[in-house]
Order: sequence, then C-alpha cells, then structure tokens
Amino acid sequence: MSDDASESPAQGDAERERNPLAMETLVSLCAARGFIYPSSEIYGGIAGFWDYGPLGVELKNNLKAFWWRRMVRERDDVVGIDSAIISHPRTWEASGHVEGFSDPMVDCRTCKRRFRADQIEGERCPEAPKKRAVTDCDLTESREFNLMLRTELGASVDESTTAYLRPETCQAIFSGFKRVRESARQKVPFGIAQIGKAFRNEITPRNFTFRSREFEQAEMEFFCHPSESEEWFQHWLEVRLQFHKDLGIDESLLRTRPHASDELAHYARAAEDVEFLFPFGWQEIEGVHDRGDWDLSRHTEYSGKELAVTNEQTKERFTPMVIETSVGMDRTTLALLVAAYREEELDNGETRVVMGFHPALAPIKAAILPLSKKLSEPAREIQKELRKHFNVSYDEAGNIGRRYRRQDEVGTPFCVTYDFDSAEDGCVTVRERDSMNQERVAIDGLRTHLTERLEEGS
Ligand code: ATP
Repeated sequence: MSDDASESPAQGDAERERNPLAMETLVSLCAARGFIYPSSEIYGGIAGFWDYGPLGVELKNNLKAFWWRRMVRERDDVVGIDSAIISHPRTWEASGHVEGFSDPMVDCRTCKRRFRADQIEGERCPEAPKKRAVTDCDLTESREFNLMLRTELGASVDESTTAYLRPETCQAIFSGFKRVRESARQKVPFGIAQIGKAFRNEITPRNFTFRSREFEQAEMEFFCHPSESEEWFQHWLEVRLQFHKDLGIDESLLRTRPHASDELAHYARAAEDVEFLFPFGWQEIEGVHDRGDWDLSRHTEYSGKELAVTNEQTKERFTPMVIETSVGMDRTTLALLVAAYREEELDNGETRVVMGFHPALAPIKAAILPLSKKLSEPAREIQKELRKHFNVSYDEAGNIGRRYRRQDEVGTPFCVTYDFDSAEDGCVTVRERDSMNQERVAIDGLRTHLTERLEEGS
C-alpha cells in the first residue's frame, strides 16, 4: 500500500541528476502524441483514471505480450488464465480484504477533504492556509477506509448483493487452483499467471499513472512444496529483475529492496520489491512475495473445498506454498516512458527528442516516408506488405527532416524513405533512430532486414 513520504519529490540531488526528466515534460508529450491522457478529459478528467491513446495502447500491449511470452509461453511449468473481474463476495472475506484492506483516514470538515492519517501533522489540515488558526481546522478522528471499490449486483434494491471490483488479480488464481491444475495436468511445483484490471480506491492518486484507481496487473502465483519455497523465491526474484533489464531499462535505474518485517502484508512471509528510479524517487514497480499457504488455506476454510495436494510418490499430503510475482503494467509502462526519454543536441544546433524504446516494445516499428506525395503509390505498397508483420505507419506530410523528428519523438526504430531513385534501383533508404545512420536496402529484402533488427536482443 501507499507510502506517501517516500513518494514525495524530496530526493537526493545525486539521484535527481541521474534522472533529471521533469514529469510535466513527459506528461505533456504523452498527451500531445497520444500515449496517455486523462480519462474523460473534456469533463476535466477524473482523478486516478487514465486513457491510453493509439501509441500508448501499442506500447502497453507490447509489454503485456512480452510478459506473457516470458512467463507463460516459454515455460512448461506456468499456465495462463483470464478470470472475471468480479468474484463471489466470500472471496474477499477469505483473502482478508474486507477486514484488512484499508488505510486510516482523517476528514477535514472545514475544507471537506480526506487525508491519510500519516499525512497529518498535529491538529492541522495539510490544505489549511498558513494564516488559518489550528483551532479552525476541524478534523475527524482517524477512521479505517476500505480501498475496495464496491458495486451492487441484481435488479432491485431489496435483492441486490454487494460485490467488489477486484483489488488484485490473484484471488481467482487461488480459487481456481484445483480446476486449473487438473485441467492443465500440472503437478506442484507449477504456476498460474494472468494479466488483468485491478481497482483500488486510492485516496491520493498521484504521479501521473503511478498511483491510479484503475490499473492493470500481471501476476503469477507459483505453487510449491514448503521445503522449496525459499529456493523458488530467489529464483523468481532473479527472473523478474532480469525481465526489467531485458525491457531495455538501464541497470542504474533498477534495484531490489527487501521489505522490513514491519512492512510485510498480513499474508506475507517475505517480500522484495523491484524498484525503478522515477523522477519522483525510487518506487516499486513489482513485488515478489512469499505468501506461504495463507491463500489456499483460507479459501479451503471459507469454501469448504479441500485445496491440498498429494505427492504421488511419497503420498505426502500438503497445502502448497505460494511465491507471487506481481507487476503493474501501467507503472512499468510509465517506467519505460521515463527511461526512454532523451533530448539530444544535433550538429546543426537543433535539439531532437527521442524515445529510445527497445525495438520490441516500440509502438510503431517502421514509418514509410515517400520523399514526395507523387511517390505515394509505390510507398503505400511497401506499407501494405510490411503491416502484415508489424505495426507500420505512413507519413507524407512536411519535409523529411521534420518527419524524422516526429518518428524519433514516438520512438520508431526505423524510417523507410522511398525516393526518386527507388523505382530504378529497387531500393529504399532505411534510417535507424539512435545512430541516425542511413543505408540503402533492397525492397525485396526489406522485411527480413527489418525483422532481424527488430528481434535483436528480445
Ligand atoms: P504501493 O505500496 O505502491 O501502493 P502495493 O505494495 O500495494 O503498492 P501490490 O499490492 O504489491 O502493490 O501490487 C503489485 C503491483 O501492482 C505494484 O508493484 C504496482 O506495480 C501495481 N499497483 C499497485 N497499486 C497500484 C496503483 N494504485 N496504481 C498503479 N499500479 C499499482
């Protein structure tokens, strides 16, 4: 849960120098270029909710596909599911969320705002103007405020039941454990993974998408024998840290941080975060948790259905331990945006903005740029062929330099220019984003040429 003190911008100078990007710069680039913008923007937005535009959705989808490939497709011991957002309400009693998923909150009756109790110093409302006397602040006692979003199921008020939008995606993995294990013919140790929306009524949504009320998680719950849980915890921590490096994020912007024992969630035996250096400081993007047998034991107790397993060789019966890896897709997308942003001074004194995404994650892989509108027909033909294989854009507006800049700013790794010689020599010019090197490539071999480069290092 949130730790507002560490989310404040008061970071050491050294850290800020390493990541000097101003969030406002990124937020406005994201809106202007269609990565991410406020939800319901024409109504003034709604705090904690964000929409992904045409480029943002491509970037996030590429991230999700990469996670799925690494965590599910490339492993024999992990299978995927996609469960409903709403579960039986008993689920959240078993998980401990109805009782315990809360922050202590204080309301100010004067300004009508609500604050986390740990943000209040003395008797003073944090929003109070300096000249207001402390006695004019009218604060309530601290009260527990449940972070789950509630809804009603059923047509009439009398018969309706309270249900919750899931605050994490993993509970359906636990309740479906037996079904998935048997249907997928898996034996412990094995894992179940899914990507999906989660909702939390965060009191202070902030830092762009970092703390949202609706967000997406990619979670994997790995079930193992109690004697092996420490080993699996270490294994998954390493695998997950490597994943973030493989996204192209520089190692100096990543670190792991073990939780102190008083920080641990009620279910956790051990936890370690993967943190990223945002412009507002080091913050969690992923948690790796040893959840013990808490979840399966609780669901057994609340549902009355036995979830233990038997080792076929030894006949030992046991409740598996769970090692969880839980990463936010929105927070990681934000980390990718922060890590990718750079400004470069060019020889002619101009500055270019480049989003240096790993090619496998870039929203657009190649842009087709005919040198003149007169060349649109053959250039469109190339686009038509390439777009069967990856996301390709087309731009014939403005001078070529400006078109390159536009593509740099959204992180397109390759620009393909069709010029007046192309019809004669059957070649196009391919310009690479980072080096700005240009080479002549035969149109016939263009797809292979680009595919090989896009796949390098992924
Ligand atoms: P925090 O302490 O920052 O609130 P948490 O420890 O409660 O996070 P977990 O419950 O471990 O987070 O959730 C796993 C992952 O889900 C987090 O690492 C993060 O990437 C993502 N996540 C959690 N809450 C939010 C949120 N409000 N907005 C965006 N992503 C979130």
